[in-house]
Amino acid sequence: MPTKVDVLIIGGGYTGLCAALATSEIGAHTLVIDQANPGEGASTRNGGMFGAHPRVSWEKVKNTFGEIVADAIFEEAPIALNFVRDIIQKNKIKCDFHNSGRIQLAWTKDHFTSQKKMAENITRKSDAKIDILEKKDLTEYISTEKYYGGIHFSEHCSLNPKKFHDGLINFALSKGVQINSNIEAKRIDRNNKKWTVFLSNGRSINASKIIMATNGYTGNNFPWFFRRVFPIPSYIVVTEELSDNFIRSLIPSNKMLVETRSKHSYFRKSPDNKRIIFGGRASMLNITNEKATSRLKETMIEIWPKMREINIDYSWSGNTGFTFNQLPHVGRINKINYAMGFCGSGTVLSPYLGYKVGYQAMCDKRGATAFSSTNLKFSTLNLFSKPYFLNILDIWTRLKS
Ligand SMILES: Cc1cc2nc3c(=O)[nH]c(=O)nc-3n(C[C@H](O)[C@H](O)[C@H](O)COP(=O)(O)OP(=O)(O)OC[C@H]3O[C@@H](n4cnc5c(N)ncnc54)[C@H](O)[C@@H]3O)c2cc1C
Repeated sequence: MPTKVDVLIIGGGYTGLCAALATSEIGAHTLVIDQANPGEGASTRNGGMFGAHPRVSWEKVKNTFGEIVADAIFEEAPIALNFVRDIIQKNKIKCDFHNSGRIQLAWTKDHFTSQKKMAENITRKSDAKIDILEKKDLTEYISTEKYYGGIHFSEHCSLNPKKFHDGLINFALSKGVQINSNIEAKRIDRNNKKWTVFLSNGRSINASKIIMATNGYTGNNFPWFFRRVFPIPSYIVVTEELSDNFIRSLIPSNKMLVETRSKHSYFRKSPDNKRIIFGGRASMLNITNEKATSRLKETMIEIWPKMREINIDYSWSGNTGFTFNQLPHVGRINKINYAMGFCGSGTVLSPYLGYKVGYQAMCDKRGATAFSSTNLKFSTLNLFSKPYFLNILDIWTRLKS
């Protein structure tokens, strides 16, 4: 491992790797370190649903950041999607990438009304393509009576997250980026305009620039970030192999499917079309895989009662990094560059904003983005060594469900 680099990137998920691709493209000697194996955070554990529309309404963004920022964020979402799709396609990254489309399913009548308003805003403010699906239209895509309707993002896609991450690693290595696993950045000091980063292996590295790309795995040794980006776990289960007929009797199409209720269930067929991958917020806290599996299975049975007899073969969880205004941010604090806070929606935005933070660190104008105007919010709720407020949020969410 070198003792001196131009750019040191902390975190080797999509954000860190894409930041490294941007800085190395400009000629900077770049090192990525990860406290685990790169990708062991969220970037190889996600559901592979590929889309970038903001999770909050245009009105909410406008009320927090003003109309100009709200318009710019909505305009940039399809641009981000095309940018990352181009990276995958131009570099021939084999990651089971498909133009599948994604449907957001309305759990209540009110949700459907809000969805229609959201669809109107998105299509008015950007080039994104959205169709409204009435309840009767849903039978083509999902076999259940549970939903009141939905909206179809026809440009959203699907991929295999691990293969995408592997592809980015190979791409970064081919561009001369160095990547080191199992090294944690413990502390950062600044002296004479240079950084020294102290590592878990007892060594240190000097760097001219630092980029933080730690999202939902940010530790409390970096309190400024830790108080603004907090981890919420997301859980995934995968069924046993199902027959063609059975699987089609649940999901007749190849759409990515996601719900509007606060359990935030999301589901799809596996890339080989043999299993159902079913994710959701089984808890706001870390619970055992057994407990999460049983809660997710109950939710599946609620949607499709015939799932009761089906076995679960695999389960896992990972941390999403949430912000108090539910938008990611690319910025700089005390001369440290960072991109984080993807709020569970990062297969497009984390690589995209990874590039942006890399360009920003190098003072390259391609780093310009509306996500530099979505300043991270500090909340007194999160003053402690752990985000204890999530315990209360967990109870509230489960009561609401
Ligand atoms: C279960 C699950 C399902 C999801 N499904 C979807 C989906 O379908 N669609 C979608 O768009 N998004 C989804 N997401 C979100 C998406 O995966 C993330 O937004 C994205 O991967 C974030 O990438 P990242 O590089 O910023 O963070 P990560 O991939 O989490 O990487 C952060 C890295 O930082 C490292 N790190 C932290 N601290 C240090 C330190 N001090 N020193 C060194 N290294 C450190 C960690 O080890 C980790 O590898 C999901 C997330 C989860 C957990």
